[in-house]
Amino acid sequence: MKGQVYDIFVIGGGINGCGIARDAVGRGYSVFLAEMNDLASGTSSGSTKLIHGGLRYLEHYEFRLVRESLMEREVLWACAPHIIWPMRFVLPHHKGLRPAWLLRLGLFLYDHIGGRKKLPVTRTLDMTRDPAAKPLKSLYTKAFEYSDCWVNDARFVALNARDAADRGAVIRTRTKVVSAMRGADHWTLTLQDTLTGAKEDVQAKLVVNAAGPWVDEVLTGVVGSNDAHNVRLVQGSHIVVKKKFDDPRAYFFQNTDGRIIFAIPYEQDFTLIGTTDQDYHGNPADVKISDTEIDYLCAAASEYFVEPVKREDVVWTYSGVRPLYDDGASKAQEATRDYVLKTDASDGRAPILNIFGGKITTYRRLSEHMLEKIEDQLGKRGKPWTATGTLPGGNFAVNAFDSELQILKSDYPFLTAAHAHRLFRLYGTKARVLLGNAKSLGDLGKHFGSDLYEAEIRYQIEHEWALTAQDVLWRRTKRGLHLSADEAAALDQFMEGAVDRRRAMAAE
Ligand SMILES: Cc1cc2nc3c(=O)[nH]c(=O)nc-3n(C[C@H](O)[C@H](O)[C@H](O)COP(=O)(O)OP(=O)(O)OC[C@H]3O[C@@H](n4cnc5c(N)ncnc54)[C@H](O)[C@@H]3O)c2cc1C
Repeated sequence: MKGQVYDIFVIGGGINGCGIARDAVGRGYSVFLAEMNDLASGTSSGSTKLIHGGLRYLEHYEFRLVRESLMEREVLWACAPHIIWPMRFVLPHHKGLRPAWLLRLGLFLYDHIGGRKKLPVTRTLDMTRDPAAKPLKSLYTKAFEYSDCWVNDARFVALNARDAADRGAVIRTRTKVVSAMRGADHWTLTLQDTLTGAKEDVQAKLVVNAAGPWVDEVLTGVVGSNDAHNVRLVQGSHIVVKKKFDDPRAYFFQNTDGRIIFAIPYEQDFTLIGTTDQDYHGNPADVKISDTEIDYLCAAASEYFVEPVKREDVVWTYSGVRPLYDDGASKAQEATRDYVLKTDASDGRAPILNIFGGKITTYRRLSEHMLEKIEDQLGKRGKPWTATGTLPGGNFAVNAFDSELQILKSDYPFLTAAHAHRLFRLYGTKARVLLGNAKSLGDLGKHFGSDLYEAEIRYQIEHEWALTAQDVLWRRTKRGLHLSADEAAALDQFMEGAVDRRRAMAAE
């Protein structure tokens, strides 16, 4: 609304920005969020996709972070049981690396310091008999199996944004904050529509800088502050290969360099392997896997699998840049994964609150901590509420996924089992909004390849800010793994209509 002074302006539509916008609007603050590209187009779609305590961080004595993260697993699972689910991890004991007693001790702490109630505890596996040994070399006699959760990271962001918007927040994608002028009691932010180039000014009492790897750039380039060099940018890359094993469990492999990698069942037909950890000095938007990283991941996984992972097996890769708080650690892998929130309200002028670091797992608690800082500046409104607030489509019990899916299947019998499962995993109870009164696949509109139909894309355009084929194929879904280049090009063309509509709206 023209002339309105918003309470809070959030820069950045990753998990932290969307989480804060959602929490704040739910407490009664007016909120405007701008994302310069697509939601989750930064680090928040480039993660390993685990809601996890971070077993490895125990070695760095990050007990606060591990405890908070462990406690969040079951909270987040209950808020979004369609896109978050428990996963068991098999950690083979490797002679010559960490001793078995140390692994057991770490896992004992893991099971007991984090308020675990529903997730099963650690057990020891006899690898001479357990099916988990099947794809592995016969070097391992013992392994440990423990619990964490999986999350569809990009959808997690979109659902937080959707919920924030449903509660009254303004969410603008493809909108870059190009400057921010600080006044005595409010900010004037200049936004640029990245599709049309049009500029507009928005006013807000307080700014939250949730720009992830761009947080320092926003501070120096947009806000004009001297407080930069707070984050250490650390690249992490993943490879996706055709399914290496049938077991539903994931593997946690220790490497001889002290690092670890995961091999995780992915999108039914694939295995996800990652990640790497190396300092990054370029533009976060340009991050891309290097040949060295591909070789490293192939070699590390091949240490364990009977069938080696070869470069030519790689069907897709992705990379992200961790915006870690710079604690001066010597190695990238040792830099803290905890977050730091800093308020700058210098000379009593309008405040800016900056986020350095953070994990997907801790975004909700980070948001609550940020809200405490916001309350210090703007006064208290509502109480914390997100621990029990379900995300769109997640309004069913954590143990009811299968029964809900069965009901969906019987209501829409024309869907194959795999199609119904995919839709319920992505949209939960909102799958019914997407499917509407359809009685056949033909009622879902144009077919774009695999099991992707126009109805799903229209849903994403109308409810989830999708604008390009990339948004649909690699963030709202991973159908990119299944569509041919020609099919993707046809979708690209179809999406031009959405971009044109957006341009026309901007011109009004
Ligand atoms: C390889 C890797 C693996 C990981 N694995 C896990 C994991 O398994 N579990 C876990 O919990 N965490 C994991 N993480 C960490 C987690 O992904 C990040 O901490 C989290 O996504 C950061 O979110 P964010 O919102 O701070 O940043 P981002 O997601 O990067 O969001 C910042 C947004 O700000 C926008 N922006 C920047 N400047 C402007 C501007 N001027 N105007 C408007 N918008 C702007 C950007 O476009 C971007 O979308 C992993 C990270 C990496 C890299």
